[in-house]
Amino acid sequence: MTTIAQTPTDTQPTAEHVGIHRRYCRMAPDHNLHIWRDDARWLLTLAEAEADEWPADVLHNSTTDSRALIAAIDAELSWRAGRGLSRDPIDVGIPRETLDAIKQSARLELEIAVDVELRGHRTLTGRCLFHDDTTPSLVVWTADQHWKCFGCQLGGDIVTWLMLRHNWTFIEAVSHLSDRTGVALPQKAKPNAASPDRQRRPANAFTYRRIGGAL
Ligand SMILES: [Zn+2]
Repeated sequence: MTTIAQTPTDTQPTAEHVGIHRRYCRMAPDHNLHIWRDDARWLLTLAEAEADEWPADVLHNSTTDSRALIAAIDAELSWRAGRGLSRDPIDVGIPRETLDAIKQSARLELEIAVDVELRGHRTLTGRCLFHDDTTPSLVVWTADQHWKCFGCQLGGDIVTWLMLRHNWTFIEAVSHLSDRTGVALPQKAKPNAASPDRQRRPANAFTYRRIGGAL
């Protein structure tokens, strides 16, 4: 495993650092790359907005890693586009407005609290389920409805949490939230137990975890 030199004064990722991310990105489908890039941008924006309040090493790691991941994803997507390898996003049959309504009605902290004891007020902490967490490394921002583990670096929104926690597909996670919130999904979007996608889920979950671990 390559050790990456980091100093609190330099938050620009090295080419080597970007390269490490990119090797993991190579295994991921396009739509996952877009999700990860959105999450990395979100974390970068949050880190910059709260720079005065974050410990220097956490701030440094978060900004450097987010920038490295974004650079790696952009490089990977342009590499694919240049070879005709990028595919259009899969149409999962859920209108953007429906997904937004579900996510606005659902509460991330309630889903996480099913399995994790959370402490705090608006920013909650708890022990991560995805690595052997001896200290509370999992942070949940209730106002933003995002979570991130500063131990294993996994993170995302409520859908990402459910997908990782239960090894669910995107549709299965959204369908669960539809039941919770009462916001109905179009018939086309209901999960299909016979879907061949189910066969690929363990590999996808593993890939996502490896990428998360490399952030
Ligand atoms: Zn973790």
